[in-house]
Amino acid sequence: MTYDLVVLGSGPGGYASAFRAADLGLNVAMIERHNALGGVCLNVGCIPSKALLHVAGKILMADEPAHGVQFTKPTINLDDVRLHRQSTVDTLTGGLAMMAKGRKVTVLHGEGKFDSTNSIIVTKEGKEEKIEFKNAIIAVGSRAIKLPFVPYDDSRILDSTSALQLENIPKHLLVLGGGIIGLEMATVYQSLGSKITVAELGDQIMTGADKDLVKVFEQANKDRMTFLTQTQVIDIKATPKALNITLKDKNGERNLAVDSVLVAVGRSPNGRTAGIAEIGVELDERGFVLTDDQGKTSVPNIFAIGDVTHGPMLAHKASHQGHITAEVIAGHKVDFQPLAIPSIAYTFPEVAWVGLTETEAKKQEIPVKTAVFPWSASGRAIASGVTQGKTKLIYDEATERVLGAGIVGSHAGELLGELTLAIEFGATLEDIALTIHAHPSLHETVGLAAELGAGTIT
Ligand code: FAD
Repeated sequence: MTYDLVVLGSGPGGYASAFRAADLGLNVAMIERHNALGGVCLNVGCIPSKALLHVAGKILMADEPAHGVQFTKPTINLDDVRLHRQSTVDTLTGGLAMMAKGRKVTVLHGEGKFDSTNSIIVTKEGKEEKIEFKNAIIAVGSRAIKLPFVPYDDSRILDSTSALQLENIPKHLLVLGGGIIGLEMATVYQSLGSKITVAELGDQIMTGADKDLVKVFEQANKDRMTFLTQTQVIDIKATPKALNITLKDKNGERNLAVDSVLVAVGRSPNGRTAGIAEIGVELDERGFVLTDDQGKTSVPNIFAIGDVTHGPMLAHKASHQGHITAEVIAGHKVDFQPLAIPSIAYTFPEVAWVGLTETEAKKQEIPVKTAVFPWSASGRAIASGVTQGKTKLIYDEATERVLGAGIVGSHAGELLGELTLAIEFGATLEDIALTIHAHPSLHETVGLAAELGAGTIT
């Protein structure tokens, strides 16, 4: 039989597109090499990392002044921590399998490889099955970038997947790369007792976020982690006692001995796999599949979504693309053209931003102004002891339309939702300022920032 749609990969892009297409009446198959559905995000990404960060938050809370309440030093049972991580993952991946069944999406477990523009071979335990389709969606995701000088066969070298296992809690962990994934795992290991050094090649950690937001994060963590920016790791030598690191910065080279290294230097797309290029699908030089706003590739009946395509490598971007592309295949006239894709670092404090950043506005010479409300003036933040934070709006100088926003502080990621909607709706400072925000609340800082910008308060 010929499927209306075959989706290769069951991550947030893959399952979102398969489910939407099935809901629209298409006959759908989804191919996944692993037993569990959900891709990187559910199995070894977004979800297990947040389960561990939840535990890290509890541990760190015990360290903080509790305003009259004294906590004792926490006792950590690593087996139970791992159990929380795994049961969270299992609940969600199990839920996906049920949802696929409920929608009559055929799930085929095995390694998929395109055979032609209308067929794919699925191989499992040496057995091959040819699957024919009218349309296909490539949702094969991405993988961690590897560095040539890293001795990966040494068990003290971690990537994000092995770091999530919590096999060992090293005394001193070097996190190579100061991006979101590295910093979230640094937060987890620090809470479990590791000394943390972060080495970042660029001039700031958390590239992509405005420096003033990152500074608040750095200040809050200055006693917990060492941040080395403009620092390149150029060699790692494994000895029985330690991993000897050679670092290079503006002062020259120096050595650092650590117990473990987490390599978190970014991810690269899986475009050069699964026979994708061989059937004529066009890729760029880095291996991203080229698509238009509807997810169409250079082959008319083949589409691509998620990390394997251009844009931020984020789960919610993948799933939104997945919905649009499924609808396009079902004959709807829709495009993927978001004004704002939120980014959140689930660190302590959280750093969250959406739309245009101030840095990007300067680079592109877009005339913007900013309105910043410091959390040291928020009643809720003071009462809750979370004054290390700020809420910033970036708005068009002439129209006062909000183009971007950044928040650093407790629950910043949750507070960002309002601003993502504001940007999509084309809201101005006045629209936000006239919206009644509950008092006292952390989201009130959004309203107060808008009032400051609009000049209704000073
Ligand atoms: P993937 O999730 O990578 O799924 C691709 C699937 O395709 C995989 O299951 C793979 O096994 C399968 N596959 C590939 N090739 C084949 C083949 N030939 N045959 C059969 N199956 C195949 N994003 C967020 O938005 N929020 C977060 O908090 C967040 N945290 C993260 C934390 C970590 C540690 C990591 C590593 C990533 C995190 N991400 C986060 C990124 C997020 O996981 C990805 O953006 C998202 O998973 C991409 O979805 P996708 O559908 O494109 O691909």
